[in-house]
Amino acid sequence: MIAQYGWTDALAQAFAAHAQAGLTPARVIAQHRDGYLVATDDGELRANLSGRLHHEAQEAQPPAVGDWVALALNPAEGAAVIEAVLPRRTVLTRRAADSLGRLQVIAANIDVVFVVSSMNADLNPRRIERYLAAAWQSGARPVVVLTKSDLSTDPQGDAADIIALAAGAPVLLVSARDGLGLEPLLAQVAPGEVCVLIGSSGVGKSTLVNAFLGEDRMTIAAIREADDQGRHTTSSRQLVLLPGGALLLDTPGIREVGLIDAEEGLSEVFDDIERMTGDCRFNDCGHSHEPGCAIQAALQSGALDPGRWANFQKLGVELAAVEQKAQRVAKAAERRQSAALSKTYRATRRDHRGGAD
Ligand code: GDP
Ligand code: ZN
Repeated sequence: MIAQYGWTDALAQAFAAHAQAGLTPARVIAQHRDGYLVATDDGELRANLSGRLHHEAQEAQPPAVGDWVALALNPAEGAAVIEAVLPRRTVLTRRAADSLGRLQVIAANIDVVFVVSSMNADLNPRRIERYLAAAWQSGARPVVVLTKSDLSTDPQGDAADIIALAAGAPVLLVSARDGLGLEPLLAQVAPGEVCVLIGSSGVGKSTLVNAFLGEDRMTIAAIREADDQGRHTTSSRQLVLLPGGALLLDTPGIREVGLIDAEEGLSEVFDDIERMTGDCRFNDCGHSHEPGCAIQAALQSGALDPGRWANFQKLGVELAAVEQKAQRVAKAAERRQSAALSKTYRATRRDHRGGAD
């Protein structure tokens, strides 16, 4: 059972010390106000944080959906206790709404982030790149999904613009209406891997989730309804198995995860890297062979992950191009608008003169 949830030999190794201490491995499949739902090899259980973890959670991060945890099973008291959290491979974070603006982990160990955007009139490259930035930042593999391809008169042409900014991430077209492109989408997620869908509301995420789930769609509808009304049933799963073996993570708030970062921009998403570049000896440092380069030093010391640095560079280059294009488009729109305004203005004056005469 736990293999279905993505348990691997590598995880078993990371867990060895906990196993020796008599703890049981489990994956967090739902987080509710009153505790966690976890999947063990023997089935699902409710679990609570140990006193120590609960205390640490004031400063550090409590376990999130997708986390692998070490459980103490207390058959006497009925409830299992989460004693430890295994190191996370990836984390999807969100800036907390509180005044401190701390990073909040909303899902852990995600493998694939589907950045979903609709191919109707408001296909917005800037928004897509913000969601992409959040996905790169998480450490998961981003896949751009352009939905409602049936509404575009030139789907391939529209997709070409997005491919240019996707920095190598796959860009896939789907139409849920025509049932096109769903299989290639699911093929991006191997059995036992976890995917999430993020993107603005109305782009077609629920429709895709329903298509993924096939006949199980009623289950997820019930889950979301309960969440929206703030009622939390202990049995609702936020990490669900899809037909075919992939896993879908769908917690409240995850679909809009890039949105808060979207307002802050790329520099905040990669603010640690941005800060580092400030420590380079030369202001115009190219971060390759320059003496006193803080980035190269951080890469060598291991303080900076080479993968993240590569993503930052790729995204940065693409963003500059998109930025320029967005500015040109905005200028053109401005010109059109002011031309239309002065036309209206002249017409109004003509009418006024006519009325006064
Ligand atoms: P969400 O807010 O991202 O979950 O978006 P929904 O899945 O609720 O979809 C928003 C609207 O788009 C609904 O009216 C859907 O019927 C419609 N929609 C979803 N997928 C498609 C599609 O492939 N083609 C068209 N034409 N409409 C779609
Ligand atoms: Zn440098």
